[in-house]
Amino acid sequence: MKIFVVNAGSSSLKYQLIDMDNESVLAKGLCERIGVTGAISHKAADGREYKTETPMPTHSEAFAAVVYAMMKSEAKVIDSFDEISAIGHRIVQGGAIFKGSCLVTDKVIEQISELGAMAPLHNPAHVIAIKACIKTFGDKIPQVVVFDTSFHQTMPPKAYMYALPYEYYERLAVRKYGAHGTSHHFVSDRVAVLENKDKKDLKIITCHLGNGCSITAVKDGVCADTSMGFTPLDGFMMGTRSGSLDPSALTYIAEKDNLSAADINTICNKKSGMLGVSGVSNDNRDVAAAAEAGNKRARLAIDMQRYQILKFIGSYIAAMNGVDAIAFTGGIGENDPELREYVCENLGYMGVKIDKEANKCRGKEIKISTEDSGVDIFVIPTNEELAIARDTLAIISK
Ligand code: AMP
Repeated sequence: MKIFVVNAGSSSLKYQLIDMDNESVLAKGLCERIGVTGAISHKAADGREYKTETPMPTHSEAFAAVVYAMMKSEAKVIDSFDEISAIGHRIVQGGAIFKGSCLVTDKVIEQISELGAMAPLHNPAHVIAIKACIKTFGDKIPQVVVFDTSFHQTMPPKAYMYALPYEYYERLAVRKYGAHGTSHHFVSDRVAVLENKDKKDLKIITCHLGNGCSITAVKDGVCADTSMGFTPLDGFMMGTRSGSLDPSALTYIAEKDNLSAADINTICNKKSGMLGVSGVSNDNRDVAAAAEAGNKRARLAIDMQRYQILKFIGSYIAAMNGVDAIAFTGGIGENDPELREYVCENLGYMGVKIDKEANKCRGKEIKISTEDSGVDIFVIPTNEELAIARDTLAIISK
């Protein structure tokens, strides 16, 4: 059984075709510059490639290019649509409406669209992509939506409420929703497998550290708390995002520099974080190289991010009254041994002991704590596409 996974943005469309019989990727690709010019790069599992620039005024032309790549190009992997059993879409914001994945219906599309106010960069693009996908593949292939937020829907009110006047929650649905849920779900499931235990019997902290970063506390098999909030800006510093800070700092800057709410939004989302502090780059590798070469602001950015990650982990240990396992994932989490060593050394009070040899690894699944460590520490490469495909399969099998 083959499942087609779609991750659409306003000008891009990432996809994978996954064979669920052995969970292998048959092909993956990316359409870029949709609405501007248009280009597709497509790769089959055996290494055959198809790349071309072709006009993509809308997502419909992008899907047409994907269909050509999968069915007719020199890197084709299927003969017809009939081989695709279902399509799974990644959706960023499901608000409090979507507690899990579900089949696409007109009502679901309308609800995703209504949630656009809370994810203006993402949900409107998802809706356009779902409609274009239905137009391209017809309505015989079931389509499923999988939300970044739904894993976090189990948080109790004490974790998701903000201490603002209650009316903002009632009237505007302002509360913590979290993000990266598909990744935290996938990685925490993997921890349970590696621990050979029921997830319900484990206290797990999953650290998704990439250009966007979030940390989640998983207790009794479900999300108990997470660092991202009303939007993915909350939590700790990321590539270009500030993470949490005193809102008064922002109202002060806005008043002093005569800035609008939109200006502040741009500063916090696009010009802050590692980029804003270091002045070098949003990319961990560039900032680390600059720090190594003696750049003090780059060193500060790295020290700040590591310290903030450590504090979040510590707060979730307190929130769960302990922790059995901590997992690192995402571009930084999977590839930065120094960051992992810093965190583990500073969790010595919990009995954490790092295996320095194992911790040298990059990008592969491995336990990096010693056998006598008080907490098991893992590196687990995330696989959001596979998680979406699994959910899609589960929904169509119901
Ligand atoms: P992601 O958003 O998950 O793709 O992660 C992107 C981040 O991972 C960037 O900041 C990269 O610099 C970082 N990253 C990727 N590979 C490495 C590496 N080998 N060492 C350190 N950081 C890395």
